[in-house]
Amino acid sequence: MRSKPYKEGQVHILAGKCKCANCGKILASNHSKGVKYLICPTRTINKELCSGACIQVRSLEEKVLKETMGLIQSLAEEKKYRENQSSFTNKKSSYKNVLNKNIMNLKKEIENYQNSIKTMYLDKVKGIISENQFIEFNTSFSQNIKDCNDKLIELQTQLNEFELKESEHKTVSEVIKKYENIKELTPIMVSDLIQEVKVGTRIQGTKEVPIKIIWKL
Ligand SMILES: [Zn+2]
Repeated sequence: MRSKPYKEGQVHILAGKCKCANCGKILASNHSKGVKYLICPTRTINKELCSGACIQVRSLEEKVLKETMGLIQSLAEEKKYRENQSSFTNKKSSYKNVLNKNIMNLKKEIENYQNSIKTMYLDKVKGIISENQFIEFNTSFSQNIKDCNDKLIELQTQLNEFELKESEHKTVSEVIKKYENIKELTPIMVSDLIQEVKVGTRIQGTKEVPIKIIWKL
């Protein structure tokens, strides 16, 4: 089979994202008798180095589109399920409010203890309380400040984790909204959703070439 790289003045939509599942090389564009292929470059150099990957561009596009539609559909179902399950959105915002309120209260508490220590210090200077009394108060308030700080770190970690989840949820919602009714692959969609496509060796006795899509989501 004689094949040449095809050039149409346009980079293929999946170019650079398709890799050989066997050797990991980026597949090269070829054509033969008007049919476009992506093919593992390693095997064209030396057949012993790789068991090869070769797929018709049309068949690849069909598979990728079908899998992308499947992905969007399952994301949409999952989202619907979660929302139905527990009025997810309401719970989310009240949980975040509680966290924020607790964080604010802790910060206030810390400030109060710090002010109390200052007051006690002035009282000691003025001779209202003794050195020993001051040390006692100072030790106790400092311990309280430390406890508050520990709690504060814990709550802030929870808030950060929650916000991360929230932003992931938002991304998923946007993706679903944007690609709910896709009919064909577009460059933006491919760039938004697909990290890479691994193309395997044709299954013997069939025309089936297995692919595995690594999603960005
Ligand atoms: Zn290969």
